[in-house]
Amino acid sequence: MPKFIFVTGGVVSSVGKGITTASLGRILKSRGISVTIQKLDPYLNVDPGTMSPYQHGEVFVTSDGAETDLDLGHYERFIDQDLSQASSVTSGQVYLSVLERERRGDYLGGTIQAVPHLTNEIKARIRAAADSARADVIICEVGGTVGDIEGQTFIEAIRQMRHEEPRENHLSVHVTFLPWVGATGELKTKPTQHSVRELRSMGIQPDVIITRSDHPVSREICDKIALFCDVDPAAVIPLETVSSIYEVPLILEERGLGAYVIDRLGLTGGRDLAEWREMVDRLKHPAGSVEVAVVGKYVELHDAYMSVKESLAHAGIANGVEASIRWVHAEDLETREPAAVLQGVDGIIVPGGFGERGWEGKVRAATYARTRGIPYFGLCLGMQVMVTEFARNVCGMEGANSTEFDPESPYPVISLLEEQLGVTRKGGTMRLGAYPCRLTPGSVAAAAYGTDMVSERHRHRWEFNNRYRAELETAGLVVSGISPDGALVEISEIGGHPFMLGTQFHPELQSRPNRPHPLFREFVAAAAAHRRAASQQPEGAAVAATG
Ligand code: GLN
Repeated sequence: MPKFIFVTGGVVSSVGKGITTASLGRILKSRGISVTIQKLDPYLNVDPGTMSPYQHGEVFVTSDGAETDLDLGHYERFIDQDLSQASSVTSGQVYLSVLERERRGDYLGGTIQAVPHLTNEIKARIRAAADSARADVIICEVGGTVGDIEGQTFIEAIRQMRHEEPRENHLSVHVTFLPWVGATGELKTKPTQHSVRELRSMGIQPDVIITRSDHPVSREICDKIALFCDVDPAAVIPLETVSSIYEVPLILEERGLGAYVIDRLGLTGGRDLAEWREMVDRLKHPAGSVEVAVVGKYVELHDAYMSVKESLAHAGIANGVEASIRWVHAEDLETREPAAVLQGVDGIIVPGGFGERGWEGKVRAATYARTRGIPYFGLCLGMQVMVTEFARNVCGMEGANSTEFDPESPYPVISLLEEQLGVTRKGGTMRLGAYPCRLTPGSVAAAAYGTDMVSERHRHRWEFNNRYRAELETAGLVVSGISPDGALVEISEIGGHPFMLGTQFHPELQSRPNRPHPLFREFVAAAAAHRRAASQQPEGAAVAATG
């Protein structure tokens, strides 16, 4: 019988409910309790795969190919466990499956209603996620804040489950925000009181309240919240903003969250966050630093590159350096000299992307990296950039391009996958999820991974065009990762360059703070080596690589 923990948010969104949920998962797992985490997103999109990063940040992809909310990335990184499609539920999916059943005639004669049809579907999905993960505890986070219209069916389903399950099998955590009023210099609890009242009006009395704030929270404030919201004083846990998200499990455990939760759910298990603490210590005390340019389209919105950002932090921990990011607008590289924009960086990442805006700027970033021997790491679109740049400027294929951006290119070095020809529906139709990749012995990739076969997650339509493979290889491009049937180029490298590598997959989706992704680790190591070398010679004197 699994136990259920429901996490709701109050007052405002974007205060770290996802990190708090992920941290609770880490706390329980560290106590030897098996966990899984599920996100319940109230919006009507079936999945975030069709949403702009401006709406919802990065689209995280699970190994079984679900396009999900970026919180799933936090969950996986914190509990160090792969999640599946079952961990991502949206109102859109719930409606879709109920309506499909209605059209099939499954409810013939009945009136379809939010309660019980939608709520039954939600409850079934929560229970199915717990069962398929065979976890002792499932933590379900409801997106948005209490009171949102779309979220109401989720809250109602949770209310019903609280009624159906014995008391020791469920627990509700409410994450709120305490605003700071500058004029009087105090934190206010009233919005929290209101949001708890709203939650109670829907039949849910929270057991635990976690208060986010940007200022220290006194014991008096916690006691006041406990009194007004009818919660144990020990279960009101303050969580001030900290410099690293990875500190959150340590703080919450320190403040008694783990002990309170396991006691209330009748579980046992001593706390053990020693390894996690050691990781956070290394993160907070780097011996040096590197600066990496991330060249993208949505750089003013760091959430769009969440997993890239976190993977760099993990690789920094492994190398004992802080990997700071210089966010570079790809379009800036089209109007300004790349040298002026990229001056002094120790490495360049071109992350995944869609659409033409900024494409040529990204190609110029690759030229800059290749000719100056600066470590370059291309993630999905970033590999397509690297191959295009190499074809144009080393192989003399003038006008080489991806057919995504120039369907008439004389050298379509990146072209549409066979299976994508004729696909017109946008939702869930890319090459998605984990696929195996065979590594080429002696390559940078094989050395980084230290093995000959890996599995990596994908989200793309276009692909390296094998028609040009021989010519590019002759000119120095190394195909270092390939699908086991030999058909698809998954990793390529520029021979003779200290580190210029691109992956057709998204390695950033599998990096964990305690288990950095090997390619990110080696990229940051190369950036650190570049920094050491650069400090010994004047800027711009680095040797040019092949071509
Ligand atoms: N737009 C490219 C494609 O579909 C790259 C996608 C990506 O970077 N995720 O192949």
